[in-house]
Amino acid sequence: MSRCQKILLSQSRDSPPRLSVEDALVLYDEADLSELMHVASIQRRMRVPGNHVTYMVDRNVNYTNVCTINCQFCSFYRPPGHSETYLQTLDQISERISQLENIGGSRVLMQGGVHPELGLEWYTDLIHELRSRHPSIDLDCFSPIEIEGISEICGLPTKEVLKSLRDAGMHGLPGGGAEMLVDEVRLDVSPKKGSAENWLKVMREAQELNLTTSATNVIGFGESNLHRLQHMEKVRKLQDKAVAKDSVGFTSFISWPVMLENNSLGRRERGMNKYTLGIGSSEYLRHVAISRIFFDNIEHIQASWPTMGTKVAQMALFAGADDIGSTMMEENVVSSSGTKKTSASESELQLLISRAGFKPAKRDSDYNLLETDVIEQEIFAPPPTQPN
Ligand code: SF4
Repeated sequence: MSRCQKILLSQSRDSPPRLSVEDALVLYDEADLSELMHVASIQRRMRVPGNHVTYMVDRNVNYTNVCTINCQFCSFYRPPGHSETYLQTLDQISERISQLENIGGSRVLMQGGVHPELGLEWYTDLIHELRSRHPSIDLDCFSPIEIEGISEICGLPTKEVLKSLRDAGMHGLPGGGAEMLVDEVRLDVSPKKGSAENWLKVMREAQELNLTTSATNVIGFGESNLHRLQHMEKVRKLQDKAVAKDSVGFTSFISWPVMLENNSLGRRERGMNKYTLGIGSSEYLRHVAISRIFFDNIEHIQASWPTMGTKVAQMALFAGADDIGSTMMEENVVSSSGTKKTSASESELQLLISRAGFKPAKRDSDYNLLETDVIEQEIFAPPPTQPN
């Protein structure tokens, strides 16, 4: 029996041993994809028993596209002074959240760029007012780099910034901006974003303040499989610390491929890196399966339908994912990079799940199950334009 098969066998048992980075690399490099997905599915059922797959009714709000960080893979941001910059008002944001309330949503994901002029008070006033206008909606807002940006402007440590936001009513800090927590890769594509350590530090602080957090991972920068596992290892170690303190830590792990349209990283693709940037479906499924097996301390693995398409997202449910993501209603970051289908109705998500053979279960941001009304199902709407 090969080393790869021995590792797969040991990971198929009840209470499997923790997968080391070295063994994970063997699986990543050598395992048959169908066997890997099979083992990931076994682990999914051990960690999340039952046949349900969760989804959330939420919406995105991108309150500003002004950003000073200039990540090469970002098609969304505009530098300060650019003619296409915007900053939404409180009423505009509140109106969007009202639309979410009207469809029975439970959380808003509000993120933007690193705006060079908005002080802490602008953010705390916004959160405080949204909290009072929309008490039933969880406000999951910003990302570590935005928190660092606010910290620079107001001169307070990041933990104090987080505490002020939490006290104003912020519910969670989503895990955006992790991308690849390996500086060799990270600083190549986002030199101004700061080290992996910064992201981990702000997330640790958020978890210490009992904010709801998630972990993300963008792949396809031309990094090696080892880099991907080093990213996962850093997330797993931070999660160990949270669990040791009886905290939930990261609720979930979600990965997706880097988008290459309308950004300077994509233009690089036309040169020497043509064959190394981006990933295909089987590589994505391999990554999802490895993440399920690797994370023995993170309960939920999410599939990404906006970036991989609905069919691949369904396949990810057989590679260890137990959650299909959310309705989003509005999406401006991935869609800036050419992806056409970036919002879904609740019934569409239910159909996606049930057509894959699972039972849809509505959840909130903390993965608490909510009452699920199965809506009369409609065909998943195709994107507005289909490729020829
Ligand atoms: S990914 Fe975020 S931090 Fe980077 S340029 Fe875009 S908005 Fe700014």
